[in-house]
Order: sequence, then C-alpha cells, then structure tokens
Amino acid sequence: MYPGFFHTYNDGCVSNATDRCLLSPDDPSAQVSGACSQGVVSDYYVEVGSAQDVQTAFAFARRTGVALSLKASGHDYLGRSSIRGSLALWTRTLREMNYHASYPTSDGGNGTLSSVVHAVTLGAGVNLKEAYIFADQNNVTLIGGSSSTVTVSGGWTLFGGHSVLSPLYGMGVDRVLEFKIVTPDGILRNANAQENGDLFWALRGAGGAAFGVVLSTTIKVEPAMPLTVAAISFPPSPTNQLPFLELLIDESVSWAAEGWGGPLGSSYAALVHPGLLDLNATARTFSIIADYARGQQQPRQPSNVSSSTANSNATASSTAPSTLVD
Ligand SMILES: Cc1cc2nc3c(=O)[nH]c(=O)nc-3n(C[C@H](O)[C@H](O)[C@H](O)COP(=O)(O)OP(=O)(O)OC[C@H]3O[C@@H](n4cnc5c(N)ncnc54)[C@H](O)[C@@H]3O)c2cc1C
Repeated sequence: MYPGFFHTYNDGCVSNATDRCLLSPDDPSAQVSGACSQGVVSDYYVEVGSAQDVQTAFAFARRTGVALSLKASGHDYLGRSSIRGSLALWTRTLREMNYHASYPTSDGGNGTLSSVVHAVTLGAGVNLKEAYIFADQNNVTLIGGSSSTVTVSGGWTLFGGHSVLSPLYGMGVDRVLEFKIVTPDGILRNANAQENGDLFWALRGAGGAAFGVVLSTTIKVEPAMPLTVAAISFPPSPTNQLPFLELLIDESVSWAAEGWGGPLGSSYAALVHPGLLDLNATARTFSIIADYARGQQQPRQPSNVSSSTANSNATASSTAPSTLVD
C-alpha cells in the first residue's frame, strides 16, 4: 500500500488556508474543525517496478497534462515528494542490491581506465538500513546518512547526501559512479563519466527529480574499517546551551579537518572518526567541550562523556540517532 509521509506537518503547511482540518490529538479519527480532504496526498499512484512503468507514466502525463510526483520514503522536509492532484510514482519496491568486488572507473576524459574500486548498485527504493546491512555482509563501508529509512539513491544522494564520514570520504554525490535514469522524454539512460556525462554532472547536485526518475545508483564503497566514536552530552538548561554552541562553532572546523564528523546539538556532540585512534589523544581533542559538559553535571543526572570504538556500518547508523541530526 502507498503509505503516508514522514512529516505530518507537510499536509498542513502546503495546504490552502481554507482547505485544512484539525483532528483531535486524543482521537485522530475525530475532526475538530474544517473539512478534511485528500490534501497533497495523491489519489492515484504507480508502484514502480521497472523502467517501463516510468515510461508509461511519462507518456500518460504528456497525453493528459496530469502532473507526476515522485516519492521514495516521503522524508523530504519541504514536501517535494507529494504534489496535490498528481499521479504519484512510488519507488520503494525497487530493492535491487548488487556488490561489485572490482568496478572499473574512468576519468571521463578519453575513456581510459583510471582505477578499479569496490562498489554497490542500489535500487532507488533501498533505504539506509538495508544498504548498511548489505555493506556489512560484503565487508565494506557505505558512506551514508543517519536515518535508517531515508533512501540512498533517492533524495539523499540527489540532494548531496552528507555522512558522519563525509569529512574524509566526501558527500554522497562525490561517490556515485553511475545512475540509471528514465528522463522525461521516456528514454532509459545510463549516466556516468563516459556516457551522458552532462546528465551525470547535473544529477550530482541538481536535487530531487529535476532530471527524471532514477532507477538505481552505483556507488563507490570503502573497505570495512573500525571507527572511533566520541559521544559527549549533558543535561540542558535555559542558560547552558548557547555557550556550548559557541564552543562547537569555534572547534568544529578543526575537528572536520582532522576527519571527525557527526551530529552536534545544543547539549550533545556525537563524533565519529574512521580508524582506531588513541583514546587519550581523542580525549585531548575534545577536552574543551568535555570539560564544559562535566561542569554542567546536575545531582542524579551525571554528564555523559564517553569514547569508544566500533565497526563502520553499524556505528554510522546506530550512533547517530536520526532524531539528533538535521
Ligand atoms: C530523520 C531524518 C534524518 C536524516 N538524516 C540525514 C543525513 O544524515 N544526511 C543527509 O544528507 N540527509 C539526511 N536527511 C535528509 C534526507 O536525506 C532528505 O530528506 C532526502 O531528500 C530524503 O530522500 P528520500 O528519497 O528518502 O525521500 P522522498 O521524500 O521520498 O524524496 C525526496 C526528494 O527526492 C526525490 N526522489 C526520490 N526518489 C527519487 C528517484 N528515484 N529519482 C529522482 N528523484 C527522486 C523526490 O521527488 C523528492 O523531491 C534526513 C532526513 C530525515 C527525515
């Protein structure tokens, strides 16, 4: 079944002021005011299973003028995966996953082979949790985001894609080797450094469904690696968060230059570094914020300052809780 969207506010925010209804928090089926309607959730959707499904949808849109919308997980913060009155294309069932132990790449100039890398090809519906498990099974590290339900080949990659490992390994778009995409003229294309190079360039930054429906993405992966994790938090109060944010602003550029990345907030930092680092040196790197956190200790609520090591895919997903990021 075509599910709803991650952000419950989307429907209200993009609705007309006169086309909203308020539901009771105690009983969501009870209407408090206004007239409830379908809102921005499409009446009709296509569960995309092949390039041909997309080609048929594009032909339908050309013939009828009906707008198309494109959704993988529905996580888009601006509601761009839902359009009022559109025919929705839903890609979640495209779950192909293939591992390439040696994937040839070229520089795109004269087509000569430039290197051989490890890579994975992920269908457009594969989410980060599934991709991390698959990477673990193949003993490689996927550079990905924090939320287990965001799709790798959908909005995460197309809008840039940042990871706790990005300071050393780049953003999601930096790691793509090839897209398979149906463009609005209905043609299934490969876009890589040698084939449709201009489209390949545009797809790595234009965002969302700007150039068509991506069916799968082939992404460079790294060997499995240990990680060092520094997790620091303290009980927030009305006065202790702003000074902490100022410390983070002062320090975070140099941490990123050393290869540390991860979510930072007004009362926590959860930073990850590829490789096993000396824990005393790690403690020194973060001594300024660790000292600050210790100073915020309250009775029966001890501050939490810890440093540990872990495996790559598990940690990238499990030590950066999705609610803390973004
Ligand atoms: C809890 C949470 C945690 C997050 N953590 C991170 C993070 O750590 N790093 C990070 O970089 N971002 C993060 N994000 C942001 C997330 O990457 C974006 O919201 C992303 O756009 C979601 O992509 P999606 O395909 O899953 O969602 P959707 O809402 O389904 O799609 C997002 C956009 O991509 C388009 N799209 C989807 N699939 C395709 C396709 N196959 N072809 C073409 N266009 C497509 C849609 O039309 C829409 O415009 C997070 C978001 C949330 C809600």
